Amino acid sequence: MISQNHRLDQQLIEREDQYMATAARINYYDLVIDHAHGALLTDVDGNQYIDLLASASAINVGHTHPHVVKAIQEQAAKLIHYTPAYFHHQPEQQLAERLAKSAPGTDNEVAFGNSGSDANDAIIKFARAYTDRQYIVAYTDAYHGSTYGSMSLSGVSLNMVRKMGPLLPGIVHVPYPDCYRTLPHETEHELALRYFEAFKAPFDSYLPAEETACVIIEPIQGDGGIRKAPAEYVQLVYDFCHQHGILFAVDEVNQGMGRTGKMWSIQNFPGIRPDLMSVGKSLASGLPLSAVIGRREVMESLAAPAHVFTTAANPVCCAAALATIDVLEDEQLVTRSSNYGRYAKEQFLALQQRHPKIGQVRMYGLNGGIELVKDQQSKQPDPEFASDVIYAAFERGVVMITLKGNILRFQPPLVITKSQLDTALAVLDEALTAAEQRLVKRPRGKIGW
Ligand code: PMP
Repeated sequence: MISQNHRLDQQLIEREDQYMATAARINYYDLVIDHAHGALLTDVDGNQYIDLLASASAINVGHTHPHVVKAIQEQAAKLIHYTPAYFHHQPEQQLAERLAKSAPGTDNEVAFGNSGSDANDAIIKFARAYTDRQYIVAYTDAYHGSTYGSMSLSGVSLNMVRKMGPLLPGIVHVPYPDCYRTLPHETEHELALRYFEAFKAPFDSYLPAEETACVIIEPIQGDGGIRKAPAEYVQLVYDFCHQHGILFAVDEVNQGMGRTGKMWSIQNFPGIRPDLMSVGKSLASGLPLSAVIGRREVMESLAAPAHVFTTAANPVCCAAALATIDVLEDEQLVTRSSNYGRYAKEQFLALQQRHPKIGQVRMYGLNGGIELVKDQQSKQPDPEFASDVIYAAFERGVVMITLKGNILRFQPPLVITKSQLDTALAVLDEALTAAEQRLVKRPRGKIGW
């Protein structure tokens, strides 16, 4: 057990409360991080925590990976920035080529940005420009970002949009397949067809297919609860798009970069080639960099300077991204994600036998959503119980948050060692027991979102 000491830097926390806007934060218990390596965080008092939240903080290859650090240092000493909109630089060109070649298809181009949010705005821009159509179909429960465009695409939380309307017009939300709360005795095939009917419903009434520019989907939803859409459903939507000249766009910001056991999550769905794809988060191991990758013809539909940001494709960020991709390849982290994910799933299923509030274990690579419910029959979410588990884990040195209040988000750095993984699982076992026995004394308030 990792010993804890909750002295922390109270002054720093109070100053932050005084000077930082609430809207720019997601709550977690007071934890002031001093440094981090691999899968371990160390706070200012020297307490160590296993990080199960790394995908949220954009660290798939592990904190301060030496190869990434070296690349950042070397590039910073050579050229920190000159906006590539004017002049060329090597890291940008190399990264554009590497990303274009890594995505499905053979004629991809790349446009860089600073965040996953602006990459999703880019999808709106390119899709509308290429098709000369205005409507866009997105999904309930999806999170696509905090800019107006990406926020309008999102369907995840009322607080995300409260007091900020009107949002971008022309965006229609359809339900994302829920493979947990199904109809009685429903097969995956029947579920896929049911949700495809729901997808088509707007087109049957008020949404003209010939005026629809694109569908944007996370083939495996991240913040929506780590949920995978049935392959048959994704194929049906993809075929529908093709029949009607609608572009098929995927958001890989959360689930890309090896997280799901493939470089890009859409590669879990053979035969699907997106027209546009947004990437970010772990792309540059936490430095601000994003990209939209798309078919050349689509990407050439806008003229300069329709998608230029002063600091996009910053050379230091590009160098970090190149080094991050090196690490994914050299350390075979994508395969590791798949193998360790399988192992973690087995362990969570074993925990489910002893902890009946674990309603469903979803795991795609080292990427899990553990749904906590009041009981297996009602499948009613149990956010109070989930918050107790999160706090009990925090007290025992494991950091994670919930999604939608009741889903444990399990996304460690892909370099997590077997023994760290086992420790984290043992801690979660204890945390579940402590929560069952109502032994957790936690500060009130919602954690995560
Ligand atoms: N898309 C998805 C799927 C995401 O999970 C996120 C971030 N949680 C974003 C977009 C937005 O990325 P950023 O915070 O870098 O703007």
